[in-house]
Amino acid sequence: MMPRLGVLGWPVAHSRSPAIHNAALAALGMDGWRYQRLPVPPALFAQTTRALGPAGFLGANVTIPHKQAALALAAHASRAAREIGAANTLTFAADGTIAAENTDAPGLIAALERLTDMPAHPRALVLGAGGSARAVTWALREAGASEVAVWNRTPERARTLARELEVEAVRAPRPADLLVNCTSVGLREPAGIERSATDGEALNQLGLTFDQVGEYSNVVDLVYRSGPTPLLAAAAAHGARTVDGLEVLVAQGALSFELWTGRAAPLEVMRRAVREEDPAGT
Ligand code: NAP
Repeated sequence: MMPRLGVLGWPVAHSRSPAIHNAALAALGMDGWRYQRLPVPPALFAQTTRALGPAGFLGANVTIPHKQAALALAAHASRAAREIGAANTLTFAADGTIAAENTDAPGLIAALERLTDMPAHPRALVLGAGGSARAVTWALREAGASEVAVWNRTPERARTLARELEVEAVRAPRPADLLVNCTSVGLREPAGIERSATDGEALNQLGLTFDQVGEYSNVVDLVYRSGPTPLLAAAAAHGARTVDGLEVLVAQGALSFELWTGRAAPLEVMRRAVREEDPAGT
């Protein structure tokens, strides 16, 4: 049977993962392997996912809204997946068992290696308290950040996350060596609105002004789109070092790829593929 891989999501039409993984498979001459979109609504997630192994799938990435359900379905889960409470990577064994991993967290750490001047034990501020903020907070703590603070529009969610992961919730963004945006702010520019106005609004939704962005010398934005997000545009204007969401996406994809195939991921090929692919036309 042809080895198959895929990405489970709902919706999943805009996922760039097929482009990243198919480019990597082609570059390594892994003919016959295919990575495809698997659009599955929540009500069908468990039964569809259980059927993937017998249907010839070796593994699948998992995206919104299935990451928690994916962990619940697995017979084995890594410590990262268990402690984060979500899995973005499933592996299907020949005997039908499912193993869960979370490569979002180590992927973020790998992407941070591009920030060459960062202190070994940075003080970090995470914006957001949803699924990705949880993975990022866990990863930063594991990677030895000296301090991780979490700010969120809805403070109660930040407090819950902070309590569970043993970090600090803050009422307003505060200066740090590293700022990571894990909210969905900046995802799209409303049509017909001046770019500068939109950028200011977006920063405002993150509790920041343009000047305050200058207090962070390393800035990561998980949001990706064509061109810089308002946060990364402001950070670059202040001379900060930045990592965008596509780099983070490639980093987690590369780790999933290595888990399934046992081959070193061709990172440059994957980076090129993710930037060529623009399914949303944005
Ligand atoms: P999520 O669980 O739905 O959380 C969304 C977060 O965004 C919450 O903290 C929410 O705050 C905040 N938010 C939404 N709209 C806001 C607004 N107008 N103003 C202020 N805060 C707002 O989503 P997620 O899974 O964490 O994903 C967040 C973003 O990261 C998405 O854009 C996703 O595409 C991106 N992402 C990228 C990667 C990558 O590899 N590059 C990986 C994962 C996620 P409240 O709690 O107040 O609602």
